[in-house]
Amino acid sequence: MAKRDYYEILGVEKSADEGAIKKAYRKLAMQYHPDKNPDNKEAEEKFKEASEAYEILFDKEKRQLYDQYGHAGIENQFGAGGFSWENFSHRGDFNDIFGDGFSSIFEGLFGGGFGGSRSSGRSSNRGEDLQIELSLSLKEIATGTEKTIKIGTKEACDKCNGTGSADGQVESCAQCRGTGQVRQVRQSLFGQMQTVSECPSCRGEGKIIKTKCSKCYGEGRMGKVKEISVKIPSGVEENQYIRLRGQGNMGPRGGTRGDILVLIHEKQDDLFERNGNDIMIEYPISLSQAVLGDDILVPTLTGKVKMKVPAGTQSGRLFRLKGQGIQGLNTYSKGDEIVKVILVTPTKINKEETELYTKLREFDSKRELKPGRGFFSKLRDYFS
Ligand SMILES: [Zn+2]
Ligand SMILES: [Zn+2]
Repeated sequence: MAKRDYYEILGVEKSADEGAIKKAYRKLAMQYHPDKNPDNKEAEEKFKEASEAYEILFDKEKRQLYDQYGHAGIENQFGAGGFSWENFSHRGDFNDIFGDGFSSIFEGLFGGGFGGSRSSGRSSNRGEDLQIELSLSLKEIATGTEKTIKIGTKEACDKCNGTGSADGQVESCAQCRGTGQVRQVRQSLFGQMQTVSECPSCRGEGKIIKTKCSKCYGEGRMGKVKEISVKIPSGVEENQYIRLRGQGNMGPRGGTRGDILVLIHEKQDDLFERNGNDIMIEYPISLSQAVLGDDILVPTLTGKVKMKVPAGTQSGRLFRLKGQGIQGLNTYSKGDEIVKVILVTPTKINKEETELYTKLREFDSKRELKPGRGFFSKLRDYFS
């Protein structure tokens, strides 16, 4: 029987993009899923066929080979009997393909044997991830910074060199013959499935220690405080994480390292308020500055810049200082500084000022100020 064309199986065009391929596969998988078609051989075959097509077409390289040479081009991707579930590499993407909740169905269906070749075992030997909180000032966030932090981690025991063994003797586990995994064969809808699980004797490590190290009690690691340097990119935000891969706890007995998660906290700034990559500041101006205009010196994250307040400026008016904000994360663009000028009424004035204000009041009394909606915009017209 000639093999069907993968595009035809999924019902997509040759030019279909990844999104269309995923969508088509999702639809077919939902339709032919064995849970919905119990004991239906045909549905089972259709589901498998669609999965094979998806396996090839969703992968750029495999798809290219298939486009160029047809089925002959991807023959060696599968075993002698053609595609089997072990060749299906998307188990980890099921949440992505089907949404939450669906992957568990697949897990139950295929057990560990499904895509089992992906897991190289020994995952139980991985060290724990650690979390640390880091408070940063707005200035540090604006430009990015480098910080040295002290953190307690588990490092290789210096007495046993991380082996956990007092005499250096480590034996291969007899039950799993050093693989750390035990296999069981069971029946499933797809015929015989192999289930791979962690070896109970060695807890997946494949090794057994006869005499435990007296310093680490066979753990192969000990608590230490170390200093690490963390590069903080500009533009990070409150509650964001920076993951330092492979810097967390060392795994027991020479296992791989976990990660360190650095949780970012933003310290409140005395002057500025943050709004995305923009920063905002309120700047007080006097009545005479507002009426006559003036040049003011506005604080920025890096110093001060001169800003022109034009004559007749109203209280609350916003000015934008381009590029004086925060350098965005993963972007070349920089935020701005927004300056809100606030008219400050003097509360203590001397005799001379009182005379001057009294004189001014005579002029002001001839101006009729009307309250109501849009007061400020009308005010602007009135005074101009
Ligand atoms: Zn074992
Ligand atoms: Zn030790």
